[in-house]
Amino acid sequence: MKRRDFFINAALGSAAISSQLLTSCATGPILYGDKNYNINRGYQFIPKLKLSKDRIIKETVGLRPFRASGPRIEKQILGNKTIVHNYGHGGSGWSLSWGTGHLARKLVMEQPDKKIALLGAGTVGIATATLLQESGYEVTIYTKDVPPNITSNLATGTWSPASRVCDKSKSTPEFEKKWEEATRFSFRRLQMLLGMEDIVSWCDDYVVHKSIPNTTDGNGGGEIFHLEGLAPEWVLMDKKNHPFKADYVRKRSNMIFNIPSYLNFHLNNFLLRGGKLKIHDIKTLEDIDALPEKVVVNCMGLGAKSVFNDEELMPISGQLACLIPQNEVNYKLATKGAYFITRKDGIYLGGNGIDGSWDTNPKRELTEKWIDVLMDLMKEMKG
Ligand SMILES: Cc1cc2nc3c(=O)[nH]c(=O)nc-3n(C[C@H](O)[C@H](O)[C@H](O)COP(=O)(O)OP(=O)(O)OC[C@H]3O[C@@H](n4cnc5c(N)ncnc54)[C@H](O)[C@@H]3O)c2cc1C
Repeated sequence: MKRRDFFINAALGSAAISSQLLTSCATGPILYGDKNYNINRGYQFIPKLKLSKDRIIKETVGLRPFRASGPRIEKQILGNKTIVHNYGHGGSGWSLSWGTGHLARKLVMEQPDKKIALLGAGTVGIATATLLQESGYEVTIYTKDVPPNITSNLATGTWSPASRVCDKSKSTPEFEKKWEEATRFSFRRLQMLLGMEDIVSWCDDYVVHKSIPNTTDGNGGGEIFHLEGLAPEWVLMDKKNHPFKADYVRKRSNMIFNIPSYLNFHLNNFLLRGGKLKIHDIKTLEDIDALPEKVVVNCMGLGAKSVFNDEELMPISGQLACLIPQNEVNYKLATKGAYFITRKDGIYLGGNGIDGSWDTNPKRELTEKWIDVLMDLMKEMKG
């Protein structure tokens, strides 16, 4: 081969090799310049929310069952019935359900009867019924409504065991001890639900402030107690490492409960294992007296107010707006009084709480305000 031909062939050969490389790159997982390829980006890439008013598919207002002294977990003897109360969880019922269920089970175990009437099929009732069943009790749930027509379906669905759980000025050392036991029990139980059809999952959780805030509280949840070392702590992010145009960004990992599938999963399991469920509106104590079981576990949430004449129990309303799900978005974020979490069934926007309000009509202007706040943040975010 002449020297000139050698160079021409060599050049053609390398062109063929590099076009082969390009082809394999095009079909392989990493593409230089691809949006998700972030080796040289210098900050953590997170996908943006699609925010527009026409993506709103649902708006709801739920009533958190709040008691200033904290959830009522105690035994009461009424005539020939033993009542075990387990209600009034405020903004932490999803998180504490297993833990207070465990405390209620201990009270049930103090008596010999094995047949239990359990009132209510919210997240607290379903968890408590499951635990009792696991301990060999024969449980019948009596309830006015089942999911999705209950307060538990109107919650955000994050790990927030101290969110509006009581009024801190009214809490006692005994309550805080119970709360800690319940929180630790729940946390352990929830880890056992990971990997089961995504009913529970972990995700990144951000709080974004344009300027340095006066207080480090402000994640929108109103957490009033904290157990150090139980769940990952907040970490202040270096400005170089996040995509937000903001001076102060905190990040941690947090749990998400995929509410519709979670409730379905546990209710189905309860029924599969021989549990019974009857639709029954309990209006008075006489209705309870008429039940065949001697032991009654009360998990009626706000419904306990009128039946047990509990003056302390009151609603704290909370609005949520649900946007069309975005599978690629898998984080939670709070900023300027608005937050969103991403669940399998949608992106949930929220951030308010009105003490004593029974009004369950959503306000469109509130949803639009949250959309505007989050839209501003997304617009300025590095993509
Ligand atoms: C906007 C919002 C966001 C929230 N976010 C979170 C969160 O992120 N994390 C968290 O941990 N918690 C959160 N919560 C709080 C949580 O949703 C509640 O604490 C929890 O749902 C209470 O559960 P429950 O089972 O006690 O009550 P419910 O879900 O109200 O269930 C009560 C059950 O009792 C039945 N019942 C009521 N009255 C009667 C009657 N007279 N006769 C027969 N049956 C009756 C009902 O039909 C229902 O089945 C949030 C709440 C709201 C409103």
